[in-house]
Order: sequence, then structure tokens, then C-alpha cells
Amino acid sequence: MAYKTIILGSGCAGSTAAIYAARAGLEPLVLEGHEPGGQLALTTLVENYPGFPEGVQGPELVERMKQQAQKFGAEYRMERAVKVDLESRPFIVESDSARYEAHSLIVATGASAKLLGLESEKQLLGHGVSTCATCDGFFFRNQKVVVVGGGDTAMEEALYLAQLAESVTVVHRRDRLRASPILAQRAKAHSKIRFIWESVVVDILDPAKKTVEAVRLRNVKTGEEQEIPANGVFIAIGHQPNTGIFAGLLEMTDSGYLVLKEGSQTSVEGVFAAGDVHDHVYRQAITAAGSGCRAALDCHRYLQGKGVVQ
Ligand code: NAP
Repeated sequence: MAYKTIILGSGCAGSTAAIYAARAGLEPLVLEGHEPGGQLALTTLVENYPGFPEGVQGPELVERMKQQAQKFGAEYRMERAVKVDLESRPFIVESDSARYEAHSLIVATGASAKLLGLESEKQLLGHGVSTCATCDGFFFRNQKVVVVGGGDTAMEEALYLAQLAESVTVVHRRDRLRASPILAQRAKAHSKIRFIWESVVVDILDPAKKTVEAVRLRNVKTGEEQEIPANGVFIAIGHQPNTGIFAGLLEMTDSGYLVLKEGSQTSVEGVFAAGDVHDHVYRQAITAAGSGCRAALDCHRYLQGKGVVQ
């Protein structure tokens, strides 16, 4: 039997869509994906999600959203969609362990921050290494932070952090920024921001102490290494939307973000999208949650139009 809707992804967008879809009687199946809980599950204290004046731990927030959706009948499975057929009706979704049919889909597979790939980076993620200044910058007030990257995101992160931190060091692998001139000029003009050019991070110290103390850099031209003190490291080398399984099936931008037509409707009727999988601008938990709500409402209306639900 076909599900009325299957939601792919269980971050803020997916679980909010699940709450709304479940309450509307759509009995959604949520395939949790390869990062259950999405990016919030990888962060620590969230202080900008409305309703939590004391802040809330990211993993707790997404777990509570999941419980709220389950309370209304959403079914969660620890599976990841690996293949979809959007030509057949109902749609077919294959996960790593099962095959499903659904009259509609809500794609909330998110985007994953790109990482440098260092072992120390992995160990210190959430313990001084972050991929989101708006989320974690507050913890580095009057401290020394490093931002890695030379694009718009890196400049925005550096400018945001400069309001809080004692100093911000931008480490970029080339001698020229990729960022737009306005952001680049603003960052270069800021008294708290300095740049280390043509350098890459080769290690972050000290995983054994579960805290960031310094960053080891290598100059890509000379090979020379230096260690600079740092309390926090923000990796801002871009995001990768998780849209691989939709390549050639749904319209997307050159960088792989889903393109929406009307509201949350993708290029295929009956397939809706929510959260970072289509939004490379705002990328906040609250905007993802809002777009999850929108996708569920659009989906409900679509299913009513098709006579699948009343
Ligand atoms: P991006 O433009 O792809 O820039 C990524 C930066 O990280 C580049 O400087 C790149 O270096 C560097 N990088 C990539 N992989 C690296 C690695 N393994 N090690 C070290 N450095 C690495 O990504 P983004 O800054 O996230 O921006 C994504 C898109 O969103 C862009 O189109 C951007 O304009 C847009 N955006 C706009 C705004 C705004 O307008 N306010 C804000 C944020 C983002 P290279 O330069 O050497 O390639």
C-alpha cells in the first residue's frame, strides 16, 4: 500500500513537516537519513531558537521535534533513501533496506557543511570546531577564533564573529578571496580581522584535551608550517546539498540546491522540498522548520486535490 507521503530527512525541516503532515492525517513515513536530526544533531547549545530563553541543546531540540511528530502518528525509520522513481505513480522510494510507494514526497535531506577531512577536526566538532558562527559564535566571546575559507560564507562568518571575538584570523588557501567585493572589503577593513593567505589547516590541537588550543597551518607555496593559538575554528568552505539521488530527476541549481516553483513545489508535481536542501541563504533551524511547515501544508493541499485525502 502506498503511503500518502514520505518525508526524506529528519532535521528541523523534516520533523516539522512530519508534525504538520501527521496532524493533517497524512500518516507520514519519515526516513531519517544519513544524519538523523540533521545539522542540529551535530551542534551543542542553540540559543536563537525561539521559545528557549535558556537555550536548548541541538540534539535535544531535534529529538523533541521527532517525539512531537511521533505523538501524532508519524512513523520514523532509521533508513536512508538511496533511489527514487519520480516517473511512476505512486512514486517509488528505495531505502538501504526496503522499497516504498508514496503519493507525495517531502524532500528535507538538508545540506552538509563541507569539512576539511582532518581527524582532529572530526574529534573536535562541537568542542571548539564549528561550521556555523550564528549558532556557536557566542561561545567565543573575547576569544581567538580562526575562520577557514575565502568565499562569502567565510566573510560573513568572520564579520559576525568579529562582533564577539577578541580576534578573527581568516585562513585561505589562495592569495585572493572568492567572496563578493562588498563582503571582502568589509572583512578586510575590519580592525579585528586578519588574513593568512595561501595557507591550509593541517591540524587542530588538541583532541586529547577535547578543546581547541591552536591550529597548525602550512603555507601551500613554501611548505612552511606555523602554529597559531585559537580557541575556536569555524570551517566555512561551503555546503553540499544532499540531492545526489535526485540528479537528473528534479531541477536544481549548478551547486545542487533544489529549485522550487511555487511555494515548496519542486519541478515534479507532488514532490515538495523544505529546509537547507533548497535554501542556501538563510540556513537557520527556524527557517528550516518554517519551510517544513509550508511543505506539509502544500503537500496536504496537493493530496486533497488528487483525492488521496479529504
Ligand atoms: P564557496 O563560494 O564555494 O566558497 C568556498 C571557499 O572555501 C572558497 O574560498 C574555497 O577556496 C574554500 N575551500 C573550498 N574547499 C576547501 C578546502 N578543502 N580547504 C580549504 N579551503 C577550501 O562557498 P560559500 O562561501 O559557502 O558560498 C556558497 C554560495 O552561497 C556562493 O554562491 C555565495 O556567493 C553564496 N553566498 C552568498 C552570501 C551573500 O551574498 N551574503 C552569503 C553566503 C553565501 P577557493 O576560493 O580557492 O576555491
